[in-house]
Amino acid sequence: MKAIVKDNPSKGATLKEISMPILGEEDVLIKVKATAICGTDLHIYNWNSWAQNAGIKLPTVLGHECSGEIVEIGSAVKTLKIGDYVACETHIPCGQCHQCKNGLQHICASIVIYGVHTDGCFAEYSKIPEVCAVKIPETINPNVGAVLEPLGTAVRACVEVHVSGKNVAVIGCGPIGLMAVNAAKAFGAANVFAVDVNNLRLGIAKELGATHIINSAEVDSAKQIVELTNGVGVDAFIDASGNTNAILGGFKSLRKGGMVALIGLPSKPLEIDLGSQVVFKEATIIGIHGRRMFETWTTMSNLLDKGLLNIDPIITHVLRLEEFEKGFEILEKGFGGKVILVP
Ligand SMILES: [Zn+2]
Ligand SMILES: [Zn+2]
Repeated sequence: MKAIVKDNPSKGATLKEISMPILGEEDVLIKVKATAICGTDLHIYNWNSWAQNAGIKLPTVLGHECSGEIVEIGSAVKTLKIGDYVACETHIPCGQCHQCKNGLQHICASIVIYGVHTDGCFAEYSKIPEVCAVKIPETINPNVGAVLEPLGTAVRACVEVHVSGKNVAVIGCGPIGLMAVNAAKAFGAANVFAVDVNNLRLGIAKELGATHIINSAEVDSAKQIVELTNGVGVDAFIDASGNTNAILGGFKSLRKGGMVALIGLPSKPLEIDLGSQVVFKEATIIGIHGRRMFETWTTMSNLLDKGLLNIDPIITHVLRLEEFEKGFEILEKGFGGKVILVP
């Protein structure tokens, strides 16, 4: 089968003909219908310092966001059958640790990430454990099915900070930030302030329901948000930028008693005045490491099935798998939203 293989500890990857995955008893084989490039794939593709220290064994097949059809099942698989339409949950839990036994398997102590620590889905076929193949409604088109993994992260952030009826800022309008803007509107946020430095992305945020778009390269975004909320500040902010200055700006725009969901990964430690920004403010902060398994998937599926989310504007490019180099370039240069590869 065709696959995009990360085979060298340097920038790039290679389109190769490789043998089909061999299924374990609890695995299913997916014929990939569509797959999406994520920031994580770009880190691995570029082989940056994060990738070098992420426990990745080369060679490996890239990719972890996909939708597809089950074409083969392992002998112990009970809940899925050939022909099922699925998307992939990327957190492979051990099922045995304290978290797994206490309803928190998405933050399993021995977590293995599909497509990072295992062969992924930039290929014609991919294998994944039964527990991580999530059946999705046939009404969801394959390109949207391929982005449910990041969409779930955005949906969960909105759930955790209770956006309904609230004023919410979304900082960073890359694909997950854009998804958070759209999800916040779907959950009934009153005002959504979308903050970014890229006008193309801010334009998409507006289309997805942001009530205010703010280019933080041009204005002091925190000051503007406080003014627009009558001097109060937002009830919650979601960071999808991972930029330390932008996160500090988020705290400055947050009202007392407000809530914070952090999705972005800063590349360096963040220095913050905990007294003024968290303690006296009584801010509630939660880190978001993907989706709750599987409440978030159920919520997302319900929203999509009823047409309450609008993902199409976020998918700016649909390319053939062979065009992966172009896809990575689009992502790296910020020329678009989500890039889909079709095997
Ligand atoms: Zn991803
Ligand atoms: Zn575990």
